[in-house]
Amino acid sequence: MRIDLHTHSCVSDGTDTPSELVAKAVAAGLDVVALTDHDTFAGLPEAQQAAADQGLVLVPGVELSTRIGGRSVHLLGYCCRTDDVRLGSELERIRRGRDERIPGMIARLAELGLPLSDEEVSLQAHGASIGRPHIADAMVQRGYVANRDEAFTRYLADGGPAFVDRYAPEVADAIDVVHRAGGVAVIAHPWSRDGRNNLTEETMSALVASHGLEGIEVDHPDHDAATRAELRRIATRLGLLATGSSDYHGTGKTRNPLGVETTAPAVFALLQHAVVQRRAS
Ligand code: AMP
Ligand code: ZN
Ligand code: FE
Ligand code: FE
Repeated sequence: MRIDLHTHSCVSDGTDTPSELVAKAVAAGLDVVALTDHDTFAGLPEAQQAAADQGLVLVPGVELSTRIGGRSVHLLGYCCRTDDVRLGSELERIRRGRDERIPGMIARLAELGLPLSDEEVSLQAHGASIGRPHIADAMVQRGYVANRDEAFTRYLADGGPAFVDRYAPEVADAIDVVHRAGGVAVIAHPWSRDGRNNLTEETMSALVASHGLEGIEVDHPDHDAATRAELRRIATRLGLLATGSSDYHGTGKTRNPLGVETTAPAVFALLQHAVVQRRAS
């Protein structure tokens, strides 16, 4: 059984529609896929319909933008009730922050001699959750950069010359919100970029002890072998589920093909068990 628990469609910053993503997952020989778009559930109905038609198990998910110590942390929420009012309003608040920061970033780029219109950027976003990758795509279209990677490296990365910050809840609060919505919380790519410095072993330990964090993503394209070994040791010590996933974004991230990393069936079974417990509590 091949299980990929972290993917994006074009309702956030992936490039496939939810149905295309499901078809490609089947073609890639996957049995279970979680759709985890950034800060929205908007792709789930279409993905669930396509999965039912094509015999794929679709795990409903979301990747929440959160922070700790002022730095960005991505939190995966699995099997949350999508009609939960508190979670719904938190996601709405995060998406509002996404929308509101775009003009500021466009203004920064204009100052840098790289003008873009609001329309050019919004045309790149097909759905609910707009992000820096859509600005990057508009920059590619104009010929300012060759690809998303170059746009991030030169201009859009956290602290970069065209970066403007946006609202995100504290990760501890976001874990609570996921739990109150009946979902299970897993920290995505905890040690990608400078994550090692903000999400220390002590921090993760506190999130487990005080907030019931259930897992961390260990096998992820952003983690090298040594990082994975260390995260796996931490997961074992803290009793965390160690998941694996591609973080697929279609053509938006070329190093993340579907199923390039997977979650062990035994770990997925424990995750499903945790969902049943959350739903019952
Ligand atoms: P935002 O959602 O606006 O905060 O933008 C961050 C998102 O951009 C991340 O969640 C990734 O999906 C994507 N991203 C980050 N770095 C890169 C990169 N170097 N190339 C392409 N996409 C990236
Ligand atoms: Zn993304
Ligand atoms: Fe992420
Ligand atoms: Fe992601």
